[in-house]
Amino acid sequence: MPLQIATAVADILDRALDGQDISQNEGLTLLQQTDPDIIEAIRVGADRLRQQQVGDTVTYVINRNINYTNICEQHCSFCAFRRDQGQPGSYWLSWEHILDKATLAVADGATEICMQGGLNPTAKVDGRSLAYYQKLVTTIKDAFPALHIHAFSPQEVQFIAREDDLDFATVIQGLAQAGVGSLPGTAAEVLDDRVRRVICPEKTDAATWVDIVTQAHQLGMPTTSTMMSGHIETHEQQIGHLDQLRQLQQHSLAQGHRGITEFILLPFVGQDAPKPLRNRVGRDQPVIADALLLTAVARIYLGRWIKNHQPSWVKLGLDAATEALRWGCNDIGGTLMEEHITSMAGAQGGTCQSVKDLMGAIATLNRPSQQRDTLYNSISG
Ligand code: SF4
Repeated sequence: MPLQIATAVADILDRALDGQDISQNEGLTLLQQTDPDIIEAIRVGADRLRQQQVGDTVTYVINRNINYTNICEQHCSFCAFRRDQGQPGSYWLSWEHILDKATLAVADGATEICMQGGLNPTAKVDGRSLAYYQKLVTTIKDAFPALHIHAFSPQEVQFIAREDDLDFATVIQGLAQAGVGSLPGTAAEVLDDRVRRVICPEKTDAATWVDIVTQAHQLGMPTTSTMMSGHIETHEQQIGHLDQLRQLQQHSLAQGHRGITEFILLPFVGQDAPKPLRNRVGRDQPVIADALLLTAVARIYLGRWIKNHQPSWVKLGLDAATEALRWGCNDIGGTLMEEHITSMAGAQGGTCQSVKDLMGAIATLNRPSQQRDTLYNSISG
Protein backbone atom coordinates (compact mmCIF):
# COMPACT_ATOMS: atom_id res chain seq x y z
CA MET A 1 0.00 0.00 0.00
CA PRO A 2 1.47 3.43 -0.90
CA LEU A 3 2.58 4.81 2.48
CA GLN A 4 1.70 8.45 1.78
CA ILE A 5 -1.89 7.64 0.81
CA ALA A 6 -2.30 5.21 3.70
CA THR A 7 -1.15 7.91 6.11
CA ALA A 8 -3.48 10.51 4.58
CA VAL A 9 -6.45 8.12 4.82
CA ALA A 10 -5.53 7.17 8.40
CA ASP A 11 -5.44 10.87 9.35
CA ILE A 12 -8.88 11.46 7.81
CA LEU A 13 -10.32 8.46 9.63
CA ASP A 14 -8.78 9.56 12.94
CA ARG A 15 -10.33 13.00 12.59
CA ALA A 16 -13.73 11.52 11.75
CA LEU A 17 -13.53 9.17 14.74
CA ASP A 18 -12.67 12.20 16.84
CA GLY A 19 -16.05 13.70 15.89
CA GLN A 20 -14.70 16.21 13.38
CA ASP A 21 -16.23 16.97 9.99
CA ILE A 22 -14.07 15.91 7.09
CA SER A 23 -13.74 18.22 4.07
CA GLN A 24 -15.06 17.57 0.57
CA ASN A 25 -11.48 16.95 -0.60
CA GLU A 26 -10.99 14.42 2.18
CA GLY A 27 -14.24 12.70 1.30
CA LEU A 28 -13.07 12.53 -2.29
CA THR A 29 -9.75 11.05 -1.20
CA LEU A 30 -11.64 8.25 0.56
CA LEU A 31 -13.93 7.57 -2.41
CA GLN A 32 -11.07 7.39 -4.89
CA GLN A 33 -9.18 4.58 -3.17
CA THR A 34 -8.71 1.32 -5.03
CA ASP A 35 -6.13 -0.51 -2.90
CA PRO A 36 -7.95 -3.33 -1.04
CA ASP A 37 -6.02 -2.72 2.19
CA ILE A 38 -6.91 0.98 2.21
CA ILE A 39 -10.54 0.21 1.39
CA GLU A 40 -10.60 -2.24 4.30
CA ALA A 41 -9.21 0.51 6.56
CA ILE A 42 -12.06 2.80 5.40
CA ARG A 43 -14.59 0.03 6.08
CA VAL A 44 -13.20 -0.49 9.58
CA GLY A 45 -13.25 3.28 10.19
CA ALA A 46 -16.92 3.53 9.14
CA ASP A 47 -17.80 0.47 11.21
CA ARG A 48 -16.08 1.91 14.31
CA LEU A 49 -17.84 5.24 13.80
CA ARG A 50 -21.18 3.43 13.56
CA GLN A 51 -20.38 1.56 16.77
CA GLN A 52 -19.36 4.80 18.50
CA GLN A 53 -22.48 6.68 17.38
CA VAL A 54 -25.29 4.14 17.65
CA GLY A 55 -23.84 0.93 19.08
CA ASP A 56 -24.10 -2.59 17.70
CA THR A 57 -27.87 -3.02 17.57
CA VAL A 58 -29.31 -3.30 14.08
CA THR A 59 -32.80 -1.87 13.81
CA TYR A 60 -35.68 -2.65 11.46
CA VAL A 61 -39.20 -1.37 10.89
CA ILE A 62 -42.35 -3.30 10.01
CA ASN A 63 -43.85 -1.29 7.21
CA ARG A 64 -45.75 -1.53 3.98
CA ASN A 65 -45.25 0.35 0.77
CA ILE A 66 -48.30 1.55 -1.09
CA ASN A 67 -47.53 2.96 -4.54
CA TYR A 68 -51.00 4.36 -5.16
CA THR A 69 -50.55 5.10 -8.89
CA ASN A 70 -47.90 4.63 -11.56
CA ILE A 71 -49.48 7.20 -13.87
CA CYS A 72 -46.92 9.97 -14.10
CA GLU A 73 -46.51 13.10 -16.18
CA GLN A 74 -42.72 12.94 -15.93
CA HIS A 75 -40.20 10.81 -17.81
CA CYS A 76 -37.16 10.22 -15.59
CA SER A 77 -34.59 8.36 -17.63
CA PHE A 78 -34.05 5.70 -14.95
CA CYS A 79 -37.73 4.98 -14.28
CA ALA A 80 -39.34 1.69 -15.32
CA PHE A 81 -42.32 2.28 -13.03
CA ARG A 82 -44.15 5.15 -14.74
CA ARG A 83 -46.95 4.75 -17.29
CA ASP A 84 -49.07 7.16 -19.27
CA GLN A 85 -52.76 7.25 -18.42
CA GLY A 86 -54.51 4.51 -20.40
CA GLN A 87 -51.24 2.72 -21.25
CA PRO A 88 -51.26 -1.04 -20.60
CA GLY A 89 -50.07 -1.68 -17.06
CA SER A 90 -51.11 1.73 -15.76
CA TYR A 91 -53.05 1.68 -12.50
CA TRP A 92 -54.67 3.94 -9.96
CA LEU A 93 -55.69 2.32 -6.68
CA SER A 94 -59.21 2.88 -5.37
CA TRP A 95 -59.75 4.12 -1.80
CA GLU A 96 -61.07 0.63 -0.90
CA HIS A 97 -57.95 -1.03 -2.28
CA ILE A 98 -55.70 1.35 -0.34
CA LEU A 99 -57.61 0.67 2.87
CA ASP A 100 -57.43 -3.10 2.22
CA LYS A 101 -53.65 -2.89 1.87
CA ALA A 102 -53.35 -0.91 5.10
CA THR A 103 -55.64 -3.38 6.90
CA LEU A 104 -53.47 -6.31 5.82
CA ALA A 105 -50.34 -4.40 6.88
CA VAL A 106 -51.75 -3.76 10.36
CA ALA A 107 -52.65 -7.45 10.66
CA ASP A 108 -48.99 -8.19 9.93
CA GLY A 109 -47.82 -5.83 12.67
CA ALA A 110 -46.94 -2.80 10.54
CA THR A 111 -46.33 0.47 12.34
CA GLU A 112 -45.73 2.47 9.16
CA ILE A 113 -47.26 2.94 5.74
CA CYS A 114 -44.93 4.43 3.17
CA MET A 115 -46.79 6.03 0.26
CA GLN A 116 -45.27 7.39 -2.91
CA GLY A 117 -46.49 7.37 -6.47
CA GLY A 118 -46.47 8.91 -9.91
CA LEU A 119 -47.39 12.53 -10.57
CA ASN A 120 -50.87 12.27 -11.96
CA PRO A 121 -52.49 15.63 -12.83
CA THR A 122 -55.94 14.06 -13.06
CA ALA A 123 -55.75 12.75 -9.49
CA LYS A 124 -57.85 15.34 -7.72
CA VAL A 125 -60.67 15.55 -5.19
CA ASP A 126 -63.07 18.46 -5.71
CA GLY A 127 -60.67 19.76 -8.34
CA ARG A 128 -57.76 19.97 -5.91
CA SER A 129 -54.59 17.98 -5.88
CA LEU A 130 -53.86 18.56 -2.17
CA ALA A 131 -57.32 17.20 -1.30
CA TYR A 132 -56.50 14.00 -3.23
CA TYR A 133 -53.22 13.50 -1.35
CA GLN A 134 -54.94 14.29 1.94
CA LYS A 135 -57.60 11.68 1.19
CA LEU A 136 -54.88 9.09 0.54
CA VAL A 137 -53.76 9.72 4.10
CA THR A 138 -57.11 10.06 5.86
CA THR A 139 -58.41 6.89 4.19
CA ILE A 140 -55.81 5.05 6.26
CA LYS A 141 -55.55 7.30 9.30
CA ASP A 142 -59.30 7.34 9.99
CA ALA A 143 -59.22 3.55 10.31
CA PHE A 144 -55.79 3.22 11.94
CA PRO A 145 -54.89 6.43 13.81
CA ALA A 146 -51.75 4.88 15.34
CA LEU A 147 -50.11 4.10 12.00
CA HIS A 148 -47.27 6.40 11.03
CA ILE A 149 -47.72 7.73 7.51
CA HIS A 150 -44.36 8.28 5.85
CA ALA A 151 -45.38 9.75 2.55
CA PHE A 152 -44.82 12.04 -0.40
CA SER A 153 -41.40 13.09 -1.60
CA PRO A 154 -40.31 16.71 -2.07
CA GLN A 155 -41.14 16.17 -5.75
CA GLU A 156 -44.73 15.32 -4.85
CA VAL A 157 -44.88 18.41 -2.60
CA GLN A 158 -43.70 20.55 -5.52
CA PHE A 159 -46.25 18.89 -7.84
CA ILE A 160 -49.16 19.58 -5.46
CA ALA A 161 -47.99 23.16 -4.99
CA ARG A 162 -47.87 23.70 -8.74
CA GLU A 163 -51.23 22.06 -9.42
CA ASP A 164 -53.07 24.01 -6.71
CA ASP A 165 -51.02 27.21 -6.95
CA LEU A 166 -49.93 26.97 -3.31
CA ASP A 167 -46.60 27.58 -1.60
CA PHE A 168 -44.61 24.64 -0.27
CA ALA A 169 -45.31 25.44 3.38
CA THR A 170 -49.07 25.37 2.82
CA VAL A 171 -48.79 21.98 1.11
CA ILE A 172 -46.62 20.52 3.87
CA GLN A 173 -48.96 21.86 6.56
CA GLY A 174 -51.96 20.44 4.70
CA LEU A 175 -50.32 17.02 4.52
CA ALA A 176 -49.41 17.19 8.22
CA GLN A 177 -53.01 18.09 9.10
CA ALA A 178 -54.22 15.03 7.21
CA GLY A 179 -51.84 12.84 9.23
CA VAL A 180 -48.52 12.61 7.39
CA GLY A 181 -45.82 12.05 10.04
CA SER A 182 -42.69 12.33 7.90
CA LEU A 183 -41.59 12.80 4.30
CA PRO A 184 -39.37 10.36 2.40
CA GLY A 185 -36.24 12.16 1.20
CA THR A 186 -36.54 10.56 -2.21
CA ALA A 187 -36.39 12.36 -5.57
CA ALA A 188 -33.03 13.68 -4.40
CA GLU A 189 -31.28 11.37 -6.91
CA VAL A 190 -28.00 13.31 -7.10
CA LEU A 191 -28.24 16.91 -5.92
CA ASP A 192 -26.41 18.33 -8.90
CA ASP A 193 -28.31 20.02 -11.73
CA ARG A 194 -25.88 18.74 -14.39
CA VAL A 195 -26.86 15.18 -13.42
CA ARG A 196 -30.53 16.04 -12.96
CA ARG A 197 -30.79 17.54 -16.45
CA VAL A 198 -29.92 14.07 -17.81
CA ILE A 199 -31.67 11.66 -15.47
CA CYS A 200 -34.70 13.64 -14.27
CA PRO A 201 -34.99 16.85 -16.31
CA GLU A 202 -38.60 17.51 -15.27
CA LYS A 203 -37.97 17.12 -11.54
CA THR A 204 -37.24 19.98 -9.14
CA ASP A 205 -33.73 21.35 -9.32
CA ALA A 206 -31.34 20.58 -6.47
CA ALA A 207 -31.88 23.91 -4.71
CA THR A 208 -35.67 23.44 -4.69
CA TRP A 209 -35.30 19.93 -3.25
CA VAL A 210 -33.14 21.35 -0.44
CA ASP A 211 -35.61 24.22 0.07
CA ILE A 212 -38.62 21.89 0.42
CA VAL A 213 -36.82 19.59 2.87
CA THR A 214 -35.61 22.59 4.88
CA GLN A 215 -39.12 24.02 5.03
CA ALA A 216 -40.50 20.63 6.09
CA HIS A 217 -38.04 20.54 8.98
CA GLN A 218 -38.95 24.08 10.00
CA LEU A 219 -42.60 23.05 10.11
CA GLY A 220 -41.75 20.16 12.44
CA MET A 221 -41.94 17.49 9.73
CA PRO A 222 -38.93 15.13 9.81
CA THR A 223 -37.61 13.61 6.59
CA THR A 224 -35.27 10.89 5.51
CA SER A 225 -32.49 11.44 2.98
CA THR A 226 -31.34 9.40 -0.02
CA MET A 227 -28.88 9.35 -2.88
CA MET A 228 -29.27 7.39 -6.12
CA SER A 229 -25.74 6.32 -7.01
CA GLY A 230 -23.87 4.40 -9.67
CA HIS A 231 -25.12 5.87 -12.97
CA ILE A 232 -23.62 8.95 -14.62
CA GLU A 233 -22.52 10.88 -11.55
CA THR A 234 -18.89 11.48 -10.61
CA HIS A 235 -17.23 11.01 -7.23
CA GLU A 236 -17.15 14.80 -6.90
CA GLN A 237 -20.90 14.96 -7.41
CA GLN A 238 -21.45 12.19 -4.84
CA ILE A 239 -19.47 14.14 -2.26
CA GLY A 240 -21.24 17.37 -3.27
CA HIS A 241 -24.54 15.61 -2.59
CA LEU A 242 -23.42 14.41 0.85
CA ASP A 243 -22.15 17.90 1.62
CA GLN A 244 -25.54 19.46 0.84
CA LEU A 245 -27.26 16.93 3.11
CA ARG A 246 -24.77 17.65 5.89
CA GLN A 247 -25.23 21.42 5.60
CA LEU A 248 -29.00 21.09 5.46
CA GLN A 249 -29.00 18.93 8.57
CA GLN A 250 -26.61 21.24 10.44
CA HIS A 251 -28.98 24.11 9.70
CA SER A 252 -32.08 22.16 10.82
CA LEU A 253 -30.49 20.86 14.02
CA ALA A 254 -29.14 24.32 14.89
CA GLN A 255 -32.73 25.57 14.80
CA GLY A 256 -33.84 22.80 17.14
CA HIS A 257 -35.62 20.63 14.56
CA ARG A 258 -35.50 16.86 14.27
CA GLY A 259 -34.42 17.16 10.63
CA ILE A 260 -33.16 14.12 8.76
CA THR A 261 -33.73 10.81 10.53
CA GLU A 262 -31.63 8.56 8.28
CA PHE A 263 -29.59 8.29 5.11
CA ILE A 264 -30.37 5.59 2.53
CA LEU A 265 -28.12 4.86 -0.42
CA LEU A 266 -30.09 3.73 -3.47
CA PRO A 267 -27.75 2.19 -6.06
CA PHE A 268 -29.07 2.44 -9.64
CA VAL A 269 -30.72 -0.70 -11.07
CA GLY A 270 -30.79 -0.55 -14.86
CA GLN A 271 -32.03 -3.95 -15.98
CA ASP A 272 -35.50 -2.88 -17.09
CA ALA A 273 -34.92 0.86 -17.03
CA PRO A 274 -35.38 2.81 -20.28
CA LYS A 275 -32.67 1.89 -22.77
CA PRO A 276 -30.81 5.21 -23.28
CA LEU A 277 -29.65 5.50 -19.66
CA ARG A 278 -29.25 1.75 -19.30
CA ASN A 279 -26.96 1.67 -22.34
CA ARG A 280 -25.04 4.71 -21.17
CA VAL A 281 -24.40 3.18 -17.75
CA GLY A 282 -23.58 -0.13 -19.37
CA ARG A 283 -24.71 -2.54 -16.67
CA ASP A 284 -27.93 -3.91 -15.24
CA GLN A 285 -27.22 -4.38 -11.56
CA PRO A 286 -25.32 -2.24 -9.04
CA VAL A 287 -21.58 -2.73 -8.54
CA ILE A 288 -21.66 -3.95 -4.97
CA ALA A 289 -18.06 -2.94 -4.19
CA ASP A 290 -18.75 0.66 -5.27
CA ALA A 291 -21.95 0.78 -3.25
CA LEU A 292 -20.19 -0.53 -0.14
CA LEU A 293 -17.34 1.99 -0.35
CA LEU A 294 -19.83 4.83 -0.84
CA THR A 295 -21.85 3.48 2.11
CA ALA A 296 -18.74 3.73 4.31
CA VAL A 297 -17.80 7.20 3.03
CA ALA A 298 -21.38 8.43 3.61
CA ARG A 299 -21.18 7.32 7.27
CA ILE A 300 -17.85 9.08 7.66
CA TYR A 301 -18.83 12.25 5.76
CA LEU A 302 -22.23 12.72 7.39
CA GLY A 303 -20.51 12.06 10.73
CA ARG A 304 -22.34 13.06 13.89
CA TRP A 305 -25.03 14.89 11.91
CA ILE A 306 -26.93 11.89 10.50
CA LYS A 307 -26.48 8.82 12.67
CA ASN A 308 -28.81 6.29 11.10
CA HIS A 309 -27.71 4.67 7.86
CA GLN A 310 -29.74 2.12 5.94
CA PRO A 311 -28.78 0.02 2.92
CA SER A 312 -31.48 -0.83 0.38
CA TRP A 313 -32.09 -4.59 0.28
CA VAL A 314 -34.43 -3.96 -2.66
CA LYS A 315 -31.55 -2.58 -4.75
CA LEU A 316 -28.68 -4.69 -3.38
CA GLY A 317 -30.35 -7.95 -2.38
CA LEU A 318 -30.46 -9.03 1.26
CA ASP A 319 -26.95 -10.54 1.30
CA ALA A 320 -25.22 -7.37 0.13
CA ALA A 321 -27.47 -5.23 2.35
CA THR A 322 -26.39 -7.39 5.29
CA GLU A 323 -22.76 -6.88 4.27
CA ALA A 324 -23.41 -3.11 4.24
CA LEU A 325 -24.10 -3.39 7.99
CA ARG A 326 -20.31 -3.95 8.29
CA TRP A 327 -19.63 -0.79 6.23
CA GLY A 328 -21.28 1.77 8.49
CA CYS A 329 -25.00 0.92 8.37
CA ASN A 330 -27.03 0.30 11.52
CA ASP A 331 -30.52 -0.28 10.13
CA ILE A 332 -31.73 -2.96 7.72
CA GLY A 333 -34.86 -1.04 6.71
CA GLY A 334 -38.39 -2.32 6.45
CA THR A 335 -40.37 -5.35 5.49
CA LEU A 336 -42.08 -3.27 2.74
CA MET A 337 -44.56 -6.11 1.99
CA GLU A 338 -44.69 -4.92 -1.62
CA GLU A 339 -42.40 -2.84 -3.75
CA HIS A 340 -42.98 -1.77 -7.35
CA ILE A 341 -40.69 1.10 -8.25
CA THR A 342 -37.37 -0.74 -8.07
CA SER A 343 -38.62 -4.25 -8.83
CA MET A 344 -40.07 -2.94 -12.12
CA ALA A 345 -36.57 -1.64 -12.92
CA GLY A 346 -35.27 -5.22 -12.67
CA ALA A 347 -33.93 -5.31 -9.11
CA GLN A 348 -33.36 -8.81 -7.81
CA GLY A 349 -33.69 -8.04 -4.13
CA GLY A 350 -37.35 -8.99 -4.02
CA THR A 351 -40.37 -7.00 -2.93
CA CYS A 352 -40.93 -8.24 0.61
CA GLN A 353 -38.91 -9.48 3.59
CA SER A 354 -40.35 -11.21 6.62
CA VAL A 355 -39.24 -10.08 10.07
CA LYS A 356 -37.77 -13.57 10.47
CA ASP A 357 -35.61 -13.13 7.37
CA LEU A 358 -34.42 -9.69 8.44
CA MET A 359 -33.60 -10.93 11.94
CA GLY A 360 -31.88 -13.98 10.46
CA ALA A 361 -29.70 -11.75 8.28
CA ILE A 362 -28.77 -9.58 11.26
CA ALA A 363 -28.00 -12.66 13.38
CA THR A 364 -25.29 -13.75 10.90
CA LEU A 365 -23.31 -10.71 12.09
CA ASN A 366 -23.69 -11.65 15.76
CA ARG A 367 -25.30 -8.31 16.44
CA PRO A 368 -28.56 -7.75 18.33
CA SER A 369 -31.68 -6.64 16.46
CA GLN A 370 -34.42 -4.28 17.56
CA GLN A 371 -37.74 -3.30 16.05
CA ARG A 372 -38.13 0.46 15.76
CA ASP A 373 -40.76 2.91 14.61
CA THR A 374 -40.28 5.33 11.72
CA LEU A 375 -38.56 7.90 13.95
CA TYR A 376 -36.17 5.35 15.49
CA ASN A 377 -37.95 4.87 18.81
CA SER A 378 -37.60 1.28 20.01
CA ILE A 379 -40.70 -0.90 19.99
CA SER A 380 -40.76 -3.65 22.59
CA GLY A 381 -41.78 -7.04 21.22
S1 SF4 B 1 -39.19 8.51 -10.93
FE1 SF4 B 1 -41.15 9.27 -10.16
S2 SF4 B 1 -41.36 11.29 -11.12
FE2 SF4 B 1 -39.81 10.19 -12.32
S3 SF4 B 1 -40.99 9.21 -13.98
FE3 SF4 B 1 -40.83 7.70 -12.31
S4 SF4 B 1 -42.71 7.95 -11.14
FE4 SF4 B 1 -42.47 9.79 -12.42
